[in-house]
Amino acid sequence: MERLAKNIGGYRGETIDITKVLREIEQAVAGKNWVSDIVPLASSTAAQPLDFIAYRRPAESARNRVYLSAGMHGDEPAGPLAALQLLQEDRWPADAAIWLCPCLNPTGFLLNRRENFRGIDLNRDYRHLQSEEAGAHVNWLEQQPRFDIALCLHEDWESHGFYVYELNPDQRVSLAPGIVEAVAKVCPIEHAPLIDKWPAENGVIRPRVNPAERPQWPESLHLITHKTRLSYTLEAPSDLPLATRVAALVTGVRAVLGLL
Ligand SMILES: [Zn+2]
Repeated sequence: MERLAKNIGGYRGETIDITKVLREIEQAVAGKNWVSDIVPLASSTAAQPLDFIAYRRPAESARNRVYLSAGMHGDEPAGPLAALQLLQEDRWPADAAIWLCPCLNPTGFLLNRRENFRGIDLNRDYRHLQSEEAGAHVNWLEQQPRFDIALCLHEDWESHGFYVYELNPDQRVSLAPGIVEAVAKVCPIEHAPLIDKWPAENGVIRPRVNPAERPQWPESLHLITHKTRLSYTLEAPSDLPLATRVAALVTGVRAVLGLL
């Protein structure tokens, strides 16, 4: 697959109209088995409603509680588009309850940048909660039950292929090889032995971190500390076409749903 070689010093690829994507998501869930939670944020206006939005899909006898999030970084459009596609297709295991946050950083998307409109990287803000977005998100998370698994959808503009971070402190059976195997059919895998400064094996990074020792927390460290014992952060390579990255993230999520 041809790399676009566009991303020099940052993401330079396609952007999305986040207000339109969020409207399409709203249409996709309308009339279906979803409950929406909307928390108004100060940065939101009537003309540009950019609230904290989450969707819950209850299941009668939920065997698996699955949490999904996207749109943490405003220069990673594949995540919200993958959330849109998953909601439009609306194919979920009957016994799985789903919690889905389609866009955690809406103002970042308006600016096509990683940080929010105040310049805060939200994915470093989950310990001290200085941003309104992370605060609203954590407040919402505290009202939800624990999850069996959490998936965070991201992109990496420096990567040549898909990879995944696994946080699995109890050494449960790893779903990472299954995720990578499925995604390999639609997107190249990053096979470098070192990814983002972490040792990696076949596109899987298993960071050994003690959250208590980390001054800044990404969402995943909040989740592993408070909400789940198994977390995957899926990273699609932004130097490939947007459709490929969306397919990679959707396929990764589907692989997990199939492996539960
Ligand atoms: Zn990201």
